[in-house]
Amino acid sequence: MPFNLIHLFKYPDEFTALYKMKFLQPGGSVNDISSFTNNHKLSDLQFCYAILNKVSRSFSTVICQLPTEIRDVICVFYLVLRGLDTIEDDFRIPAEKRKKLLLNFYQNSFDPQWTISGVGDSKDYQLLLENYQRVTSIFQGLKREYQEIISQTCQEMGAGMASFIGKEIHSVEDYNHYCHFVAGKVGIGLSKIFSVSGLEHEELQNETELSNSMGIFLQKTNIIRDYHEDLILNRKFWPQEIWGKYADTLGDLRYKEFDALACLNHMVTDAMKHAILCLKYLELIQNKMIFQFCAIPQVMAISTLVEIYNNAQLFYRNVKIRKGLAAKLILNTQNMNDVREVFLEMGNKMLKKASLKDSNFQLLVRYLCQVANPDKVRIKEEFL
Ligand code: MG
Repeated sequence: MPFNLIHLFKYPDEFTALYKMKFLQPGGSVNDISSFTNNHKLSDLQFCYAILNKVSRSFSTVICQLPTEIRDVICVFYLVLRGLDTIEDDFRIPAEKRKKLLLNFYQNSFDPQWTISGVGDSKDYQLLLENYQRVTSIFQGLKREYQEIISQTCQEMGAGMASFIGKEIHSVEDYNHYCHFVAGKVGIGLSKIFSVSGLEHEELQNETELSNSMGIFLQKTNIIRDYHEDLILNRKFWPQEIWGKYADTLGDLRYKEFDALACLNHMVTDAMKHAILCLKYLELIQNKMIFQFCAIPQVMAISTLVEIYNNAQLFYRNVKIRKGLAAKLILNTQNMNDVREVFLEMGNKMLKKASLKDSNFQLLVRYLCQVANPDKVRIKEEFL
């Protein structure tokens, strides 16, 4: 939704945040890759940051603010996995070929020549894969430990994605598995990078359950939010075990409003299960820059879940949080107190939107209570 005059009067603090954000965006000519194709005006590293800004503006902002020791590592990590995801998402590639590309993708980081053209459903994704040797060139300059983490994550994610090709997501267990492969693995890989860098405690890399939840919470939020867009593209990520309780087909949810909202709220409640684990993870982070990098996507996710909870619009269009609210969250998420405040505020908003009649109401309240009193939740007993 564009920021307009009505928003200016309704949310004046968001307008200020938006204005400040303009100056924080990674700027300069490096972002302009329109002049870049086959000429070598940009160095490989400049290319990586320029394409990062194209394929994910929000991650680009948080990655650019990371400590120098890990900034390039995480930029490359993101681009390698974005390359892999671009292949997963391109349904024009026959299933068998796509499977093979996914399974072997991790090896490309060791082949200085590897590129592929015409793959990807947007110009920017195609540009990334057509110039993949530039990502590889930066990858090969990284410390061996970082290379191993990136490569291992890519191998495991590629194998997971390949195992889901041609397979529908039936059970909630399938759904959790899929989210683990495509996002939980990223959380686990990031924790390893933080520990190896020495910027975070050595033990952080062993917190696989919490790291996994960080990724899963974001992934489930995206999967729920993208219902409409995915349906148009014939992509189905909502588990049949959930939607099957409310409709005959996933697409039918658009025509049966009451059941559709109950289904949507069931999906959001399922995602909220992970919120407490994300708070527990963030409590372990010591470095301020790494904290912001980890926390900003989480506060965005819970705000998105509140926006889409009980919101029938989700079935007909893309529902997003206001740009001004996003800018405010980016600027104001500095420490654990800020995160707790947002989670509490959003939890209360969700509770206000919830109805006692909703069949998942009790469960939702339980998750919201955990978020409100994280100190009283003992993770080991409750979740592992
Ligand atoms: Mg994908």
